[in-house]
Amino acid sequence: MVAMKMQINGKAVEACGGEFFGVKNPATGELIEQVPRGTEEDVAAAVEAASSAFAGWAAASPQQRGGVLYRTAEIVRQRKDELAALLTQEQGKPLAEARNEIEGFAHVLEYYCGLAGSLRGDFIPVPGNGYAFTVKNPLGVCAAIIPWNMPALIMGWKIAPALISGNTFVLKPASNTPLTNLNLASIFGEAGLPAGVLNVVTGPGETAGEGLVRSPDVRKISFTGEARTGKRVAELAARGMKRVTLELGGSDPMLVCDDADLESAAAGALRGRFYNCGQTCTAVKRLYVFESIAEEFTKKLETGIRSLRIGNGLEKNTSIGPLNNRHQWEYIKELTSEIEEKDSGRIITGGKVPAFKGSDKGYFFEPTLVSDVPGDSRLLKEEVFGPLLPMVTVKDLDEAIEEANSTSYGLGASIWTKDLDRARTGCEQLNAGIIWVNQHMKIAPEVPFGGVKESGFGRENGPDALSEYLETKTIMLKT
Ligand code: NAD
Repeated sequence: MVAMKMQINGKAVEACGGEFFGVKNPATGELIEQVPRGTEEDVAAAVEAASSAFAGWAAASPQQRGGVLYRTAEIVRQRKDELAALLTQEQGKPLAEARNEIEGFAHVLEYYCGLAGSLRGDFIPVPGNGYAFTVKNPLGVCAAIIPWNMPALIMGWKIAPALISGNTFVLKPASNTPLTNLNLASIFGEAGLPAGVLNVVTGPGETAGEGLVRSPDVRKISFTGEARTGKRVAELAARGMKRVTLELGGSDPMLVCDDADLESAAAGALRGRFYNCGQTCTAVKRLYVFESIAEEFTKKLETGIRSLRIGNGLEKNTSIGPLNNRHQWEYIKELTSEIEEKDSGRIITGGKVPAFKGSDKGYFFEPTLVSDVPGDSRLLKEEVFGPLLPMVTVKDLDEAIEEANSTSYGLGASIWTKDLDRARTGCEQLNAGIIWVNQHMKIAPEVPFGGVKESGFGRENGPDALSEYLETKTIMLKT
């Protein structure tokens, strides 16, 4: 098998140590590719390339930079099907979801390309015979460390605002899903991105990842991943006084009031929880349903869950693929066994490793709905990154909001109601970075995205993300 290479200074290279690691298909267990195991030496080479490329890229006009992003998006759209198939193979998600993700990557590039002409500072009148203005400068070398659940989309969220602002970049993909990232990075080169502007180092978080955070020449780290890893990254970054964006875990609540459109709420919960096999940061991870409609809502949701077809994401009719890795699979199995052992909930549907031809080769688990979950259950306290949905009944909105706010996370939350007052109360009192009304997990490159509390800080997407990659310089003139 030919090993895929990293990308440093516009060249495809192996790791300095000459070692590789395998990337496996989570649906079949088959080895897809070997990828270089990057070391701190490789990180240093990538950062040096990015540093050397910085002056030229920062001097290019935003419109020239936007042109490269636009051409990259065009090529990505032309190759959507092959990129989506690769993403499905390494990540496990159904092809339709993989295509959405690749389109999302292209869309975010196009969006920031459109903002190229909006990069500007302010004019500020000041007392006396002078004035002040601000200019916005790129930071220098920026780096991103990303997870395996949505590798293409998250890569786009970080790279597009950073590059359009004139920064150069080093990306460290997750070890389970580096292949789509490497392919996308090479497309930037085809689209005319100068050598060294975007570099990709593959390898373990503890060496390649920490190497990037420690590197004195990296000015900004944008991290997406678990809260625990995010804290480690933030601690290391603080030592080098680096700017940091942290997009961490979530445990999004979904509140279903007694006046909600139950058909659409059940469809929202189904998609919100089981899209990407439940491995989405803003997935519906806790359901709070008014007692009076709980039975009817449960029936609708159960019917929806039973209609999902589990299988290899490459197969046409698959609506839910495998979990991405053994660690997550074991975790979901452990949580489910605990429900039975501790009598801490009632499994309405699912709860098992499915049995179909070939299922023993992959990390499959049935989409599962659990009711009567006690408040101290791990299903409600931890971030459950998989196809398990705990449901709790509540008597009214006050109780639902109190329960919803009772975790350390604060990424997203949704309220389902036709009553404007209730919707407003939810928007005001739910403690999260994004509140949805009568929908969940709707995300767009135009709209700021990010969390509060242990879900992190900083914002991606929208114009807000540009300020994460720009420094304000104030100039005061006396005439
Ligand atoms: P993870 O924290 O284990 O790994 C994320 C990345 O960090 C990987 O590239 C990994 O190699 C690297 N890493 C690991 N240890 C490191 C270290 N010591 N120093 C530097 N880098 C290190 O997370 P994961 O399991 O890959 O992803 C799942 C998590 O990501 C979930 O918690 C999910 O909610 C979160 N997530 C958040 C968002 C968001 O936007 N808020 C989006 C997607 C995923």
